[in-house]
Amino acid sequence: MNEFPRVCAQIDLAALRANVRALRARAPRSAFMAVVKADAYGHGMIPCARAAVEAGASWLGAATPEEALALRAAGIGPGEARVLCWLWTPGGPWREAIEADVDVSVSGLWALAEVTAAARECGRTARIQLKADTGLGRNGCQPADWPRLVEEALKAEAEGTVKVTGVWSHYACADEPGHPSIALQSTAFEEALRIVDEAGLRPEVRHIANSPATLTLPGSHYDLVRPGIAMYGISPSPELGTSAGLGLRPVMTLTASLAQVKHVPAEHGVSYGRHYVTPRATTLGLVPAGYGDGIPRHASGSGPVLVAGKWRRAAGRIAMDQFVVDLAGDEPAVGEPAVLFGPGDGGEPSAADWALAADTIAYEIVTRIGSRVPRVHM
Ligand code: PLP
Repeated sequence: MNEFPRVCAQIDLAALRANVRALRARAPRSAFMAVVKADAYGHGMIPCARAAVEAGASWLGAATPEEALALRAAGIGPGEARVLCWLWTPGGPWREAIEADVDVSVSGLWALAEVTAAARECGRTARIQLKADTGLGRNGCQPADWPRLVEEALKAEAEGTVKVTGVWSHYACADEPGHPSIALQSTAFEEALRIVDEAGLRPEVRHIANSPATLTLPGSHYDLVRPGIAMYGISPSPELGTSAGLGLRPVMTLTASLAQVKHVPAEHGVSYGRHYVTPRATTLGLVPAGYGDGIPRHASGSGPVLVAGKWRRAAGRIAMDQFVVDLAGDEPAVGEPAVLFGPGDGGEPSAADWALAADTIAYEIVTRIGSRVPRVHM
């Protein structure tokens, strides 16, 4: 059998562990929450969560309650890792989360009311973390509503329905060094913490640092850092440098097997719309992966692939299941690897190169790789 059946994502868990250790070394006094939401940014949630825990993560970060519950269902117990889950909607599975020892984020009074009701129902104390919106404008409690939320959480603590285990927030522009909003958000977070402290709440963990803040803002590390993308070995933005420059190693390598190699004459149209027409007689290679696998169609004409030792560009449109590269007369065998991105050891492009080609961020390149692509964890 071919080593790369059609297309496959190899996930280097040793690299993930090394990245966790490298990031922990940058925040040696803080606990480490491995952000494994969205199927670990496309890398496979359970194996990545386990590898991160092996490398010293004591917390796992999930967006949806389903993700948090799946971590517990896979056997990652509260003794191994605490789990925080932050994206709640009314009527969510609060009770299941409490019973699974998941810490839940609370951004407003409606959520506090739902979680306290669920705690009463199951006779347990819910562990909650209050989330402040310090300027991102997404989920989180606005400063004007914060004193009231804190006061109500204090009452619920006194009643024994909740324990406030954390206070936290999220930066908008930590990946843009020197952006004025960073200092404003840091000040707003300090103010939120001051209100909590004055009210007499004593959370275990205060946290605000995502990958770029973990890498560049030591003053933001508090009790816990919360990296996602850097743990997968990808630089949060070109402004912060390359993965290698940051001491990180990309974890995912995406490789397809050439499905066809053929000779065509000059002026032969390639793919829908004939946006590429061969400038001369040439050889074309068929890469059997497309937007149905999460390859961005927006990178048509520019997405880079390493085939037979050279970078080739997606010639013409990327279709649902396949795209074509102009091999310029080279004749690799059918079945030869076409490496879309990886750590670069073999000269292959990176996810950052695909991000550039598709006018997006490397986060999206790895996260959007679809369920049709097998992940092979090694
Ligand atoms: N914390 C929260 C609340 C997030 O939503 C994310 C991801 O978007 C992270 C941490 C991790 O961010 P990054 O991948 O930039 O490290």
